[in-house]
Amino acid sequence: MAKQELNAVVQQRYEVAPGLMVLRVVPDGWDLPDFKPGQFAVLGLPPEAPRCPDSDAEEEPPKPEKLIRRAYSIASSSVAREYLELYITLVRSGGLTPRLFALQPGDRVWLGPKITGNFTLDQAPQGTNLVLVATGTGLAPYMSMLRTMLHEAGNRKVAVFLGARHSWDLGYQSELLAMDRLSPAFSYRPIISRPAEEPVPWGGPAGYVQDLWREGVLEKTWGFRPAPLNTSVFLCGNPAMIDNMVAILAEDGFREHSRQEPGEIFVERYW
Ligand SMILES: Cc1cc2nc3c(=O)[nH]c(=O)nc-3n(C[C@H](O)[C@H](O)[C@H](O)COP(=O)(O)OP(=O)(O)OC[C@H]3O[C@@H](n4cnc5c(N)ncnc54)[C@H](O)[C@@H]3O)c2cc1C
Repeated sequence: MAKQELNAVVQQRYEVAPGLMVLRVVPDGWDLPDFKPGQFAVLGLPPEAPRCPDSDAEEEPPKPEKLIRRAYSIASSSVAREYLELYITLVRSGGLTPRLFALQPGDRVWLGPKITGNFTLDQAPQGTNLVLVATGTGLAPYMSMLRTMLHEAGNRKVAVFLGARHSWDLGYQSELLAMDRLSPAFSYRPIISRPAEEPVPWGGPAGYVQDLWREGVLEKTWGFRPAPLNTSVFLCGNPAMIDNMVAILAEDGFREHSRQEPGEIFVERYW
């Protein structure tokens, strides 16, 4: 693999918690294309790249000379175009993430020159309230959306439901809490599924993001019941959560959006 094919440089990396990383990459000698919040980029590394220590050994070595490539939702704002920020979970047995977790500032990585994806706010009717539901790194596209548009949300209400196992896996927590305090339009509602493992008792709700919807958290926050006519729902991350949420939302009349049949639920499945 020619070194120049790795066309971007790691500017910054930090681990939110073990196995959960924020990675900033900068194109080397070329400009990032325009993109819309919610879209994804592709990262790649050659098979020779080292794997991080806490990953599983590979059963079969990947094909030499072929970049290992995967899609990552962009977490940075589309108006902060000097770098791309990605929010990545370590899949210990995975092909690419153990190699991404071994990267240090200054290391090179391949960044696909095209940024694509339909998981964007312009899919939803203008002005509808937004419920952005994620598990784990499914939060990434919402960070890009919020960082780009929250200041101009106007009368539109915006809520993030974020689910994780533990409180320390709730990435971007301080930024989301600050947005919640600073923006009357915005509500951040985290939920954890393993409260018994918290060293300091967790004061928030316990369970899954689906429970936040079922328990009418938004009705209490917004003062009205979200309905298909006034609200669009975005779902991102774990496909099991997405399928479950789609079924629950259907009880309230929400339908999954497709090109053929418009609906009020927009989904991005990570696998
Ligand atoms: C449009 C799109 C956007 C994506 N954005 C992100 C993102 O912002 N952050 C991110 O971490 N991943 C994201 N992914 C998943 C990512 O592309 C890779 O699949 C993931 O990083 C695993 O790669 P790997 O080579 O290490 O594992 P592989 O060898 O490809 O193994 C894949 C398996 O890993 C598991 N897996 C994949 N993604 C995750 C995840 N996020 N959390 C837990 N388990 C997972 C699943 O069991 C999957 O079958 C996105 C995928 C798509 C299609």
